[in-house]
Formats: sequence, C-alpha cells, structure tokens
Amino acid sequence: MAELDYRSLVHRCFRCGFCKLTHDYSPVGFNCPMYHRFRLETYSPGGLNWLIRAALLTKSIEWTDHLSEILYSCTMCGNCAEACRFEFGKDMVNMFRQAREDVVETQLGLPKMVSQFLENVYLYGNAFREAREARGDWAAGLPVKQFADGDEYLYYVGCVGSYDSRSRKAARALASLLLKASVSFGILGQEEECDGNEVRLLGEQGLFERQRDRNIEKFKELGVKKIVTLSPHSYNTLKNDYSGEFEVLHYTQLLRDLIRAGTLPVPQRAVGKVTYHDPCFLGRHNGEYDAPREILDSIPGIDLVEMERSRNTAFCCGGGGANFYTGISAKGKEQASNARVWDAVNTGANVLAVACPVCLMTLEDAVKSEGIDDRIIVRDISEILADNK
Ligand code: SF4
Ligand code: SF4
Repeated sequence: MAELDYRSLVHRCFRCGFCKLTHDYSPVGFNCPMYHRFRLETYSPGGLNWLIRAALLTKSIEWTDHLSEILYSCTMCGNCAEACRFEFGKDMVNMFRQAREDVVETQLGLPKMVSQFLENVYLYGNAFREAREARGDWAAGLPVKQFADGDEYLYYVGCVGSYDSRSRKAARALASLLLKASVSFGILGQEEECDGNEVRLLGEQGLFERQRDRNIEKFKELGVKKIVTLSPHSYNTLKNDYSGEFEVLHYTQLLRDLIRAGTLPVPQRAVGKVTYHDPCFLGRHNGEYDAPREILDSIPGIDLVEMERSRNTAFCCGGGGANFYTGISAKGKEQASNARVWDAVNTGANVLAVACPVCLMTLEDAVKSEGIDDRIIVRDISEILADNK
C-alpha cells in the first residue's frame, strides 16, 4: 500500500498529548524519549506535529536552527504511533521522516551533527568517518571468511558493530556462535557499506538510494540470497526498504532456529536474573518480540523477568534516528538511556540483555554514568550465548 503523505495527515493531530505518556498513564515515566529528555511540549510527538504544520505547511512560523534541532531530536522509536488512538497515528514515524525529506530537499538547514553524519556516509561509507579498509577489523583473529557464492548467509555487521569498540565484541560473539553451529556464512569485510537505515530516517532519500543500490548490486554480484544482521537497524532497512530479493533475518531469529534444531548448544552456567530491552527496530518496527525471549528462556541458568515497559511499549534507549551519533536527544543526565537502565534495575535483574549494538552502546554508557555498574551489567544476547558472562 502506498505511503500516505504527511501533508494530508499532520493536521489531524489535535495535540491531546496522550502519546507522550505511557500506555496506562503510570508514573513510571514518559513514552517519548525526546520529551523525556527536554520536557517541553515542542519536543513531544504532538508538539512536533504542530511545529511541522506551522513551519513547513502553513508557513506561519519561520524555519530556524532550533526548529531543525527539535525535528531531529526524534529517535523514530515509534512509541507515539502505538499510543495515539487515531488512525493517522500509525503513520507518525513516516510523517516525521517525510517532513525531514522536505527539509533536506528545500535546503532549509540541518543540525550540524546531522549534516556531518550524512557527509560521513557519503564520503566514507560509514557513519564514523573511519577508513573503509578498517571495516573488517572487528573479525581479526577469527576464522571468518569473505562471502563467496555458495555460502548460505551473508553476515552483515553494520557500521556500529564494525567500528564501535564495545559493539565489536558483540559482532565477534555472533561470528563465534555461527562458527560453532557450523553455519555456512561469510562477511563483506572492507567491502561492506552503510545500509542507509538512519540516512533514510534523516530524510536524505537520494543518499539512501545510493547506498541501497550499491549494496544490492554488490549482494547480487556475489550471489547473496540470505542475510543475517547484527543490528535491528540494518535488519529493518534491508528487509523493508530494499528490493525484497533477499531473505533477511535478525540474528536472534537465526540463533533461535539453531537452538531449536539442536545445532547451537546453550550455556549451562548460572547467569542470574536477566531482563530484556526490546530494540525499537526489532520490536515495534518489525514485530519481533519473541525470538530474543525464546533464546534467553532456553538457557537454564537464566531467570527472565520483564520490565514494566516492554514489548510494544518498551521505552527507547534514545539512540535511534542517528541520535547515538548526533547526540541531540542522547546526551545529558536526562537522556532516555539513563531512565531505561533504572527500569531494568527495578526488576531486580543483574543483567540487562540487548539485541542491538546501538542499545549496547547507549545503555552501557548509561549504567556507567548512573554509577550502577555494581548492580547491573549490559550484555548483548550474542555475548550471553557465547561466553555466558
Ligand atoms: S499524535 Fe495522537 S495522541 Fe499524540 S498529540 Fe496528536 S492526536 Fe494526541
Ligand atoms: S517516534 Fe519516538 S521520539 Fe519520535 S516523537 Fe514518537 S515517541 Fe517521540
């Protein structure tokens, strides 16, 4: 079904404000990570709708750098789309993305860090301005080979897993599990490029299409048929915004299947009480809530407990929509990740399990900045399975 244009929808928001609150209006916090961070109505989903309408459609207010920053502080988490009681509400993330596309096309002006993110992808093929040649360095010392025709899966790592030092550990843990289960797979190494998920969400459709087309060409040239991703962000765009010619799995879906088939043994050591944080781009955006939980449940030494906000009402870590890089919403004591780690601590869990390299970065930083690293540790599910720590 064709996407509805935000211009025909945005006026339907009458700014009731329900969508910034939790689904049951409990005092646990707010739904919207940017509102949580800034506590101003303009930084709420309804406020953003009204700003978009006034600045881009009726032009009753002038576009400013500050408005641009508000538009880009949204993490595209989709929590407001779950909460809005109106039909148009389900299109909220697309509405914000389309408004960003208009801002890019009409050259109204982007926040500096957003422009830098896009420039990095354009020039270097990654968000971090790192050398293309270093993209496969995360696999150093592992018997991981370059993808070749005949391999069953392409293991697509993504920018964060390839370059961020903390997330590289999860990338390595997943590779070791695939090797252990004798999965036929290869990587692209220095030939891998940004998948474009965040580029698209930032409204740079032209650059997104360039990334998509280059990747599709590469995948076809190599004979790729199935792709397993480390990141839910890659999973989201490869599955939904590419050509549909490839079967795309998030790694938790593949590991769940391997555990079910008995080809991947689960650790037998005690892990303790574990709670799982649903990444927005695996859960809300793609409806996968069960595979990560089934994996954790299959480990005998884990007592899995749920946070009050979980599954489709899970609170975002604050890093989506490239905020892990731009830091517009993801900075300061009031950022979403700092609240999210307390959601986890309040369950009594000693491990906060994640299934996303962005959540891994943001939540581990939050645990450190809140000074609670003696109470809870953050582990990717790949790491829990690989080393049982
Ligand atoms: S998006 Fe929906 S819930 Fe949110 S303020 Fe607008 S009408 Fe209310
Ligand atoms: S998508 Fe998330 S961050 Fe953006 S307005 Fe909605 S709830 Fe807030």
